[in-house]
Amino acid sequence: MTEANGPTRNAFPGRDFQVTGAIPAGHSVDRLRGQHTDIERFDVVIVGGGQAGLATGYQLACRGIRFVIVDAHPRVGDTWGNRWDSLKLFTPARYVGLPGMPFPAPPHSFPSAAEVASYLEPYAREMKLPVRSEIRVDRVTPLGGEAKTGFLIYTSSGLLKADQMVIATGGYQKPNIPLFAEDLSPNILQLHSSEYRNPSQLREGPVLVVGASTSGAEIALEAAREHRTLLSGRHPGPIPFRIDGPLARLTFPLVWFMWNHAFAMTNPLGRRTRSYVRHRGGPLFRIKLADLEAANVDRVTLRTIGAQAGKPAVEDGRVLDVTNVIWCTGFRGDYG
Ligand SMILES: Cc1cc2nc3c(=O)[nH]c(=O)nc-3n(C[C@H](O)[C@H](O)[C@H](O)COP(=O)(O)OP(=O)(O)OC[C@H]3O[C@@H](n4cnc5c(N)ncnc54)[C@H](O)[C@@H]3O)c2cc1C
Repeated sequence: MTEANGPTRNAFPGRDFQVTGAIPAGHSVDRLRGQHTDIERFDVVIVGGGQAGLATGYQLACRGIRFVIVDAHPRVGDTWGNRWDSLKLFTPARYVGLPGMPFPAPPHSFPSAAEVASYLEPYAREMKLPVRSEIRVDRVTPLGGEAKTGFLIYTSSGLLKADQMVIATGGYQKPNIPLFAEDLSPNILQLHSSEYRNPSQLREGPVLVVGASTSGAEIALEAAREHRTLLSGRHPGPIPFRIDGPLARLTFPLVWFMWNHAFAMTNPLGRRTRSYVRHRGGPLFRIKLADLEAANVDRVTLRTIGAQAGKPAVEDGRVLDVTNVIWCTGFRGDYG
């Protein structure tokens, strides 16, 4: 029972999805239909219907657990559908599929954001996951004091009660934009990377991309086709191979293992790495310095730290005369 509305998007015309791990009959949450009372009760409420929420839902459904997934977006996959048009994943398709339905693309190819969006919607439908779209969870309170007998969940469409909850709201909800952005002139167009779609949004004149990690480097490369483009921020360093080259096919399984085990949040190395990446940005996955140079991106390897006379200023006091600023400065955690 996918409760999301809207027409299905399809970035895979003519290609079928292959379901390899359907949820066993009788374990489907279809049986929850018609059970609406004033406060609906579930064993588990999952907040967030992105990859993490959907994959968790699949596992709960396989075990016959009564659950629901609530998501603020109108449609499953919207997180990806709302990213910039040319965005390609840095993870190969073989790692993008969710349990029970492989991603329908060659395993070593890199799917576009649109393809991920149009995979997630049929995934939720084929797996009969009970996703309730356009419902925002605003507040959660624990029930039963010390006895800890569950949670009361305040949503934009009423109350839910759950014995347990899974918070799968991702780390990319709230843009992190420096306060001095407010002091920039209204003549400068400002976009956060989460609002950027393509160069047609930009005003005539130079572009400053702030933040030189993967998003910043990719957007700068695209902007530089039509605008003089400056990229501000420390260089985070590239990964030591081309992700679409032959070496990557050999090394990616190792990288993936390290990522999911050695750098997992369950061990100190993972926690240290995450904190480092949060503050300094992750390495460049696809783009090398040579690519930026070849595209004439002006690498200002200093941080943008303030505004002077309505214009952005960098660490050495230089003021940059630009008509566009794209903040590729990441996101902040948001648990309400
Ligand atoms: C530009 C960009 C490129 C990326 N590229 C890659 C890549 O190539 N490979 C990779 O592995 N990862 C990539 N990531 C990270 C990737 O987005 C995550 O790995 C993955 O999407 C996380 O899935 P998730 O389910 O945890 O969160 P999300 O996909 O963010 O889903 C969270 C969901 O929670 C919902 N939600 C949030 N708050 C509430 C609330 N209060 N009430 C109800 N619903 C709520 C949102 O609507 C959203 O649908 C990228 C991220 C960005 C920003």
